[in-house]
Amino acid sequence: MDEDCIFCKIAKGDIPSAKVYEDENTLAFLDIGPVNKGHTLVIPKRHSETLLHMDERDACHVMKTVQLVADAVKKATKAEGFNVLMSNFKAAGQVVPHAHIHIIPRFPNDGFKHWEQSNYEEGEMEEVASKITDELS
Ligand code: AMP
Ligand code: ZN
Repeated sequence: MDEDCIFCKIAKGDIPSAKVYEDENTLAFLDIGPVNKGHTLVIPKRHSETLLHMDERDACHVMKTVQLVADAVKKATKAEGFNVLMSNFKAAGQVVPHAHIHIIPRFPNDGFKHWEQSNYEEGEMEEVASKITDELS
């Protein structure tokens, strides 16, 4: 537990939340600023700042809870789809430094736009792929 962390406080019950699911390792609660009603956050109870700080067990526990809760969110909100999104580190827009996954119910024409895509120059794609595979070897 990180004493200053808002999501650790929620996990501990020191700060109220609209909790929708809890088990030994994870917690799911409604986001206070929903993109669409039913927007839910899933967190590991153990404090980890980002996906890269989480141990493998917590990563598995969290994804299992995301799958379970996303199905319930979709049914409860009568959504036609949902996005699963995670911001890691400030540069990616992470505001709360306790790892969390957003489940956002989606409806046709709800106005929520995806990022614009770009493209690669000739040969650039292979170069980038090889840099990533080098990091993995
Ligand atoms: P992120 O930008 O991925 O770090 O998202 C943080 C999310 O946490 C935002 O969507 C906030 O609306 C949400 N949030 C912040 N404080 C609370 C809280 N006390 N209860 C529920 N959601 C919160
Ligand atoms: Zn925390």
